[in-house]
Amino acid sequence: MPAQNGANALPLTILAEQFAKLPGIGMKTAQRLAYFVMSMSEDEAKAFADAIVRAHKTVHACKICQNLTDREICPICEDGTRDRSTICVVEGPKDVSAFERTREYKGVYHVLHGLISPIDGITPDKLRITELLRRIQQGGVEEVIMATNPTPEGEATAMYISKLLKPLGIKVTRLAFGLPIGAILEYADEVTLYKALENRNEI
Ligand SMILES: [Zn+2]
Repeated sequence: MPAQNGANALPLTILAEQFAKLPGIGMKTAQRLAYFVMSMSEDEAKAFADAIVRAHKTVHACKICQNLTDREICPICEDGTRDRSTICVVEGPKDVSAFERTREYKGVYHVLHGLISPIDGITPDKLRITELLRRIQQGGVEEVIMATNPTPEGEATAMYISKLLKPLGIKVTRLAFGLPIGAILEYADEVTLYKALENRNEI
């Protein structure tokens, strides 16, 4: 149980501690958010809490690409105009959004839900790599674009997966990063991202 802290009622302290679990939210901001919730009407507060619960209940990984969706198959995988012979492999759902913003990529995606990072205990079996291999074994895939970030973890993951795919006769390419090393894909502008995609190199 959290300690009762000063003037705060215990439920407020508990609420603030929940906000503090969110990325980038320190305890001070968390307290401010908790106070803000108290300024909401009861209906607003309930809608806020319900949105969290509903998203958690209904959103899950697409059966094919592992991107988050509230359907069994996500709209991109279901779209008959997308080129299923090219799979762009990304770290997370945010990266799919980044590539979709370019409006130029016509292939499909595969979301790993993380990068290999032994220090953090993230081994390859914790990522959706088996699902990727299964997709490729079903046939029809000609190229896999490793679109992980140019960080040590992103590079290690790209290398690991390319070694698995090469014996299967699949062309494996890597984004041509005009992006500075360590740059994060989700912050790259559309033109930079499209160029990185267009000028990709075989690895
Ligand atoms: Zn999908």
